[in-house]
Amino acid sequence: MRRVIVIGGGVSGLAAARSLRGRAEVTVLEAGDRVGGKLRTTPLAGVPVDEGAESLMALRPEAVDLAEAVGLGGALRDPVPGPVTLWSRGALRALPAGHVMGVPPDPSALEGTGLLSEAGLARLRAEETLPVSPPPEGRDVSVAEYLGGRLGREAVDRLVEPLLGGVYAGDVDRLSLRSALGPVAALAGRGGSLLAALRDRPARPPRAVVRGVTGGTGRLPAAVARASGARILTGVTVTGLRRTGGVWRVTTPSGALAADAVVLAVPAHAAARLLAGPAPEAAEALGGVRHADTAVVALAFPPAVEALLPAGNGFLVPSVEGRAIKAATYLSRKWAWPDDGPRVVRASLGRAGGPDVLSLPDGELVAAALADLRAAAGPLPDPLATRVTRWPAGLPQYDTGHADRVARTRAAVAELPSLAVCGAAYEGVGVAACVASGLAAAARLP
Ligand SMILES: Cc1cc2nc3c(=O)[nH]c(=O)nc-3n(C[C@H](O)[C@H](O)[C@H](O)COP(=O)(O)OP(=O)(O)OC[C@H]3O[C@@H](n4cnc5c(N)ncnc54)[C@H](O)[C@@H]3O)c2cc1C
Repeated sequence: MRRVIVIGGGVSGLAAARSLRGRAEVTVLEAGDRVGGKLRTTPLAGVPVDEGAESLMALRPEAVDLAEAVGLGGALRDPVPGPVTLWSRGALRALPAGHVMGVPPDPSALEGTGLLSEAGLARLRAEETLPVSPPPEGRDVSVAEYLGGRLGREAVDRLVEPLLGGVYAGDVDRLSLRSALGPVAALAGRGGSLLAALRDRPARPPRAVVRGVTGGTGRLPAAVARASGARILTGVTVTGLRRTGGVWRVTTPSGALAADAVVLAVPAHAAARLLAGPAPEAAEALGGVRHADTAVVALAFPPAVEALLPAGNGFLVPSVEGRAIKAATYLSRKWAWPDDGPRVVRASLGRAGGPDVLSLPDGELVAAALADLRAAAGPLPDPLATRVTRWPAGLPQYDTGHADRVARTRAAVAELPSLAVCGAAYEGVGVAACVASGLAAAARLP
């Protein structure tokens, strides 16, 4: 059997490893002390709490299908329904249903919500009277440049930015409309009114946008690793990659391993370093991918806090509000944990180009998160336990030019048929997109 080394034991690499089962003798090399990457679940106040991703995107099937295939079908659950809430203009305000990444097809639905000023709402309504303006051909425009021109800057800052911030922790002035907001870009490309195009879209069957895993999403990589039958080596950082005489040499601090094929499933910054020798054009393109540093503060409260938390499953915060946190999720309510256990709220901090959150001590991050939660939600008791998780370079930024960087990477990697790349840096940061990229990487290998 051919020997394949998968570098990186996040969900992308593990999906690739499982897909290669029976076709190759697979070894996964993972730098961390466990597999899973951004899917990691550890106990807080005695209950399992996700440190990174807490849901699986379910609008596309790959993550849910994988969970079912590795025996976690019975553990999948829908979130308790609730509106998207924004902490904006001094209050928690529900975003009316039917929006597409914050863009409301019908501006009148925003009336009385206070989400936009009167001037902002009037500007949004005016979109339908603007001349036709599809995004320019041959130039990748930012979310703010295109949508600001059509919907007005206030709608971008107060409706679109917080939703995109929840996915990318990104900057609307730099995120690419095409790469970060594909469905909106496709409608915008038709020209005409974007709001009218959103209203004309075929209705989507009502189903949960995301699904959770009872006991935490960290169960997914562990189950995929088991199901892959691969040899999994943790605590092994790959420091070099080269190909000589048709064989790959994968260098680690404790020696080199040989392989017939390699799947590179590490973040863009790590992939850029490892590809510098075998695929310098890919290394150069991936080196241009910026990343956002983020931190997640988990707070476990006594059960009585449930009555004090506002309606909904949490809230998002537009960055123009100047708050420390960009989102808060009432995890125990969202996933209907048992009533008698601790109630866990997670706050996320950090955005691309924003203040440096990683160098702040844990105590300061917890205090900032708690102060913002209390300012938004009212008096809350002191937490029973807290935990801070830092994700340096945790989220790749799909800035303008992203599609070109990915195309250049893929073209350079295509020159080496026994090499495949996958992960969050390419065609989507969500878990489902990462699984899809892992499957595609495995399928590419001869
Ligand atoms: C805080 C946070 C919350 C998120 N929430 C959600 C969510 O709720 N839903 C959702 O769908 N998505 C979410 N995401 C995004 C999603 O979790 C990630 O994009 C996805 O898990 C990335 O998977 P990956 O396998 O591509 O990369 P990673 O998970 O980063 O895995 C790559 C692995 O490679 C290893 N590695 C790196 N360099 C080397 C090396 N040189 N040698 C060996 N190993 C190496 C790393 O240790 C890591 O384990 C979130 C992301 C973050 C940061």
